[in-house]
Amino acid sequence: MTIPCTLIPGDGIGPDITEATLRILDAAGAPFAWDRQAAGMAAVQSHGNPMPDATLESIRQTRLALKGPLETPVGEGFRSVNVALRKSFDLYANVRPARVIIPGGRFEKVDIVLVRENTEGLYAGLEHYIKIGEDEKAAAESIALITRLGSERVIRYAFEYAVKHGRRKITLVHKANILKYSQGLFRSIGQDVSKEYEGRIAYDERIVDACAMQLVIKPEQFDVLVTTNLFGDILSDLVSGLVGGLGLAPGANIGRHAAIFEAVHGTAPDIAGQGIANPTALTFAACLMLEHVGEAERAARIRRAVEAELREGKSLTRDLGGTAGTMQYADAVVARMNG
Ligand code: NAD
Repeated sequence: MTIPCTLIPGDGIGPDITEATLRILDAAGAPFAWDRQAAGMAAVQSHGNPMPDATLESIRQTRLALKGPLETPVGEGFRSVNVALRKSFDLYANVRPARVIIPGGRFEKVDIVLVRENTEGLYAGLEHYIKIGEDEKAAAESIALITRLGSERVIRYAFEYAVKHGRRKITLVHKANILKYSQGLFRSIGQDVSKEYEGRIAYDERIVDACAMQLVIKPEQFDVLVTTNLFGDILSDLVSGLVGGLGLAPGANIGRHAAIFEAVHGTAPDIAGQGIANPTALTFAACLMLEHVGEAERAARIRRAVEAELREGKSLTRDLGGTAGTMQYADAVVARMNG
């Protein structure tokens, strides 16, 4: 039986890492029937629109997508399609696991899952300029919207994730000492929800700035982190830096009606089109997607091959100190799966 899945190769290094990931998925016999669609800059060129209706309709039908990175113009220009997709499908939980795979780095035992609220906070898009006198842009205001519903569902998701995956502790990351209302609400909901899991999942809290410092100094103390949108965005890149960089960090965007899987990294314009990007983050995202559809064994098989290749380091990409191209690395992973 095949599982329909929307495939968005994306911009920059997206098409390269997507092809490499498809090669690995095919070799593992992954059961997806791909519906290829465009979004981002690629869709502006092909459809004159960064988020074409056909792409949205495809995800509405399949309720599942594997997505390459999408370019967002800085400042002026269209709003982030990534943010728009999360809002359109109410993908409220962004789950980003990060674990040390290659020994000999700064840390040996980091194994952190960061759960980021994905639809609210400063990303709600509630912003405007304020005109003073003749100056149309004398000031700008962005609203950090936190709701009880939005906070409770993502915090609960983090606890349920911890239970399901045998995790021991949730750390809620906040800035309630300064943002007493918005961050205070998030924190108090965390305290309420944590009581339901007492005895099963430990609970503690960190202020975001202290948490950033402790993540860099002693990351082994953390297990599952749950936090609001902007803090999650920043800390998840930090966490991926602890375990070997963005090239290895996958992410899942989970909602009640759809799920979109992607790499944490962006379009890497500095290396786009050169065939040298590391496809591992997207391949690991595809593994999260396999688990999501009940294909955990196949995901484990791919992960074993990727991790063995990364540890032995024969065909590493440049970001990890090797010289292999994207496809050469994918072929080495496939050879391991077949070997
Ligand atoms: P980036 O993640 O694209 O790149 C940061 C650095 O990491 C670059 O030096 C890049 O070469 C390197 N890098 C990233 N992925 C890599 C990989 N797979 N293999 C090897 N090296 C890799 O971040 P940026 O430069 O800040 O953003 C570029 C564009 O991507 C922007 O338009 C941004 O909006 C977009 N972006 C999209 C997403 C997404 O689609 N989910 C996420 C982040 C950024």
